[in-house]
Amino acid sequence: MIKRRDFIKLLSSAGVGMTAAGWSGFAAADKRRTTSAAAAVVPTIAGVKGRVVVIGGGMGGATVAKYLRMWGGTGVDVTLVEREPVYTSNIMSNLVLNGQRTVQSLQYGYGNLANKYGIRMMQGNVVAIDPVGRKITLADGTLLAYDKLVLSPGIDFETVPGLETAEAQAKVPHAWKAGQQTTALRNMIAAMPNNGAFVMSIPAAPYRCPPGPYERACVVADWLRRNKPGARVIVLDANPKIMAEPNAFLEGFALHGIQYYTNAVIDHVDTGSMSVYTNLGRVDANVINVIPPQRAGAVITDNGLADVGGRWTGVNVLTYEANHIAGVHVIGDASATTQPKAGHIANQEAKVCADAMVRAFAGKNPDPSPVTNSSCYSPITADTASWLTAVFGFDAATGTMKVVGGAATEAASRSKDNYEEMLKWFNTLMSDSFA
Ligand SMILES: Cc1cc2nc3c(=O)[nH]c(=O)nc-3n(C[C@H](O)[C@H](O)[C@H](O)COP(=O)(O)OP(=O)(O)OC[C@H]3O[C@@H](n4cnc5c(N)ncnc54)[C@H](O)[C@@H]3O)c2cc1C
Repeated sequence: MIKRRDFIKLLSSAGVGMTAAGWSGFAAADKRRTTSAAAAVVPTIAGVKGRVVVIGGGMGGATVAKYLRMWGGTGVDVTLVEREPVYTSNIMSNLVLNGQRTVQSLQYGYGNLANKYGIRMMQGNVVAIDPVGRKITLADGTLLAYDKLVLSPGIDFETVPGLETAEAQAKVPHAWKAGQQTTALRNMIAAMPNNGAFVMSIPAAPYRCPPGPYERACVVADWLRRNKPGARVIVLDANPKIMAEPNAFLEGFALHGIQYYTNAVIDHVDTGSMSVYTNLGRVDANVINVIPPQRAGAVITDNGLADVGGRWTGVNVLTYEANHIAGVHVIGDASATTQPKAGHIANQEAKVCADAMVRAFAGKNPDPSPVTNSSCYSPITADTASWLTAVFGFDAATGTMKVVGGAATEAASRSKDNYEEMLKWFNTLMSDSFA
């Protein structure tokens, strides 16, 4: 069995060679090759050999690529295919809405993955997966063969009636994939009149980042309270209750005077009159932020890999191999597990997956009792935050990851200290995935 201490020992070995990674289209600053840096962190390990393609360079994909090289060594050839030139973090993106961050401050390049870890980076959009022939196809026709495939494409959205067109979506942005829409939503909030209404909706679970929408409501309401007298925040939640950190958010909602409605299901949105029609009635708004229902990234649903409700991929949580597709592993938001759809958990799943793959390449079985943890900090005001954390352990009886101790732990109250800790946690997590 390959033990963690062996990996650590091997990580310290110097003078290891690396393969020159291929390149196509990433930012110029990322194009340098520093093979000596890779030599310092990518060991040579006899008997570990394999070829992995990773689709999606986000929280799950970047982490699995990096740890496959760190733990598997030079014998594990890793190609990471990502359609964007840089990654934009969703984590902390609610702070763009109150002007505390910019989208640019949340961007991470792929230079370290290429230069330090010798990962072959390819910019492209994967359109087809052939699990039998073990190859994938990019939109430009490029074919890539693999021994093992990792999919971490994140989410895509169901269509909300009234928001089918690009024009309607520009008027009512979801801003649930950080980027241009996040800045657009910030600008709409900043332009709201005094006494205006910001109406947002939360889809039925499961969705990306359980506390995220409630955090958004608090951050926006906090800013409006200080900058737009009389403005209101109205939250239409399709769920029967707050889905994470209820104590912190109920306190935040009371503090900010947020109007919160449960079991509120959207029928359609009229972008002409800026009205949301729900089972509870019509709500008029100055700014509407509908967070649509979600499913795994299109590369999964389009290729028939979503076996859970037609939306997510069921996996073996010892390896993250898809239950019905040999050689295809799915991590992060796109997989269906008992763990939350969160960046911290995507990072953890990536490590369990990388470890299991390296063991498999060495002819070994996966770790029979993996442990993961999830941490989430939620800003409630511009300088206070709350947190939620849980440790998950493998439960052999059910084959699932179960919360150790039975329940997640929530901060006793929001505080300025928590806010400071949040920034440290964020930087540490992003470094673990991208640096
Ligand atoms: C507002 C907000 C706040 C959040 N806050 C937190 C938080 O505080 N803590 C936390 O843990 N999580 C948080 N999250 C959740 C977190 O962002 C996600 O859970 C995490 O990003 C999931 O990682 P992933 O790898 O599955 O997907 P992503 O990080 O979204 O990465 C997917 C990548 O795949 C690429 N891709 C997709 N399809 C293809 C294709 N066909 N070809 C090539 N590339 C492709 C995409 O471009 C993208 O870069 C938050 C989310 C939001 C929206």
